[in-house]
Amino acid sequence: MSAPEYAIGVDIGGTKIAFALVDRGGRALDTHQLATNAANGPDAVIEAAAEGVRLLAGRALGTVAGVGVGVPGFVDFERGIVRNAVNLGWVEIPLGARLAAAAGLPTRVQNDVNALLDGELRFGAARGCQAVALAAIGTGVGGAFAFEGKVVSGAVGSAGEIGHTPIMPSRRLCRCGLRGCVEAYLSGVGLVSGVAEHRAEYPNSLLAQGEPAAREIVAAADAGDDLALAVMADALEAWQTVVAVYAMLLNPEQIVISGGLGRALAPRLLEAGRQALEERALPFARGLTFALAEVQSPAVGAAAAAFA
Ligand SMILES: [Zn+2]
Repeated sequence: MSAPEYAIGVDIGGTKIAFALVDRGGRALDTHQLATNAANGPDAVIEAAAEGVRLLAGRALGTVAGVGVGVPGFVDFERGIVRNAVNLGWVEIPLGARLAAAAGLPTRVQNDVNALLDGELRFGAARGCQAVALAAIGTGVGGAFAFEGKVVSGAVGSAGEIGHTPIMPSRRLCRCGLRGCVEAYLSGVGLVSGVAEHRAEYPNSLLAQGEPAAREIVAAADAGDDLALAVMADALEAWQTVVAVYAMLLNPEQIVISGGLGRALAPRLLEAGRQALEERALPFARGLTFALAEVQSPAVGAAAAAFA
């Protein structure tokens, strides 16, 4: 009998690096976490990542096929080079080759949102799908899509970047410097900006004072607060445009909703998404379904590439 085969997924975020030892079914059998300390530079971060990989590989009760890494930035997937990761301050870092050398395992690197979709295709909601779009809705918004069951990178690794697609006529300034981006409305940052922009119109709102966080804005909308509902209406308007664009441009069979805020808003996103298909897409594109992400963490999603 051959030993069980595992992969190690690594999710490098701005503040922490998360590790998961994953089996072929996408179950995390062991996990680990370290501070990123990006200010110490890429060499220190890569050494920390290698240390975490060696730790989990050493504890694994079987062979490890390789390492899959998710990074928040533009990545050349074929060469394993991080072209640009603003949160980490990285430009042109050959992460794949360096981590492979330091950890002694074959290593694949991809954009973190692409890794989420890769995980859903291999382990989660999109198993068996060919054409899939994913929206990762959290503090910001990321997107990815797959054709023929494979995640598409694009010319510089930014394919599917729906968050910074300018779509809204009122053109709120986005933190990326463009105006009217999806993320400026449909994200934690977007909800907070919306409250700041509209609170003078709703002096009796629960959110009229202070600096409410996104989860408080969602709770206020649940409680029927007028300001929160107005901000939510803008967010859902942005979502309906995203759904129509995905449906008409990409013709996916499924849209996967991922991210903490995506989960919190799921009932609203599902209802508004179905309405968008009815009202903003042509009949041929309406057959797509919505699904919630099933993969338990970004590190597990990142591991998928190591099994490919
Ligand atoms: Zn933007």
